[in-house]
Amino acid sequence: MKSNCINKMSLTLPALSVNEGVGRAMVSAFCAQLNPTIEEIADIKCAVSEAITNCIVHAYREKQGEIYITVKIFDCRTVKIEIKDKGCGIEDTELVKTPLYTTDSSGERSGMGFSVMESFMDKLTLKSVPGKYTKVTLAKKLSPLEL
Ligand code: ATP
Ligand code: MG
Repeated sequence: MKSNCINKMSLTLPALSVNEGVGRAMVSAFCAQLNPTIEEIADIKCAVSEAITNCIVHAYREKQGEIYITVKIFDCRTVKIEIKDKGCGIEDTELVKTPLYTTDSSGERSGMGFSVMESFMDKLTLKSVPGKYTKVTLAKKLSPLEL
């Protein structure tokens, strides 16, 4: 059966550290209309936090840039979250999803961001064109409402 989008939100934020929490809070507030369980909302927050952090840390390097966030809610209780940047892009989108893979040399990163996103959501799609953009799409189907 085809599902229909019943509500959506778009948000653009500068890729600044302070906006990791802002983006995460806005997405979770929007998803709250579906009455998710505490666990479901915690999972969404964690995954969104990883995707936004990647835009802040990796996408723009020393330059300024923006994070483009879109959230769509479908009538089948599926939430689809798109997190996009117009930064450096990724050459090999399969390789970067490998657990522990990181290009960070400072020792601050563990290379687990994509694994965390995959484990907390039902579906992750990564699309990128080097030098142009990176787009992560996260989807999760929420459990039926208890009456
Ligand atoms: P962690 O998330 O554990 O702190 P990490 O960010 O290095 O470490 P992942 O989130 O799994 O690990 O990302 C893996 C690699 O993918 C990054 O090291 C980086 O090279 C690349 N990457 C991820 N997101 C982007 C992005 N938005 N733009 C450019 N490169 C990215
Ligand atoms: Mg990361």
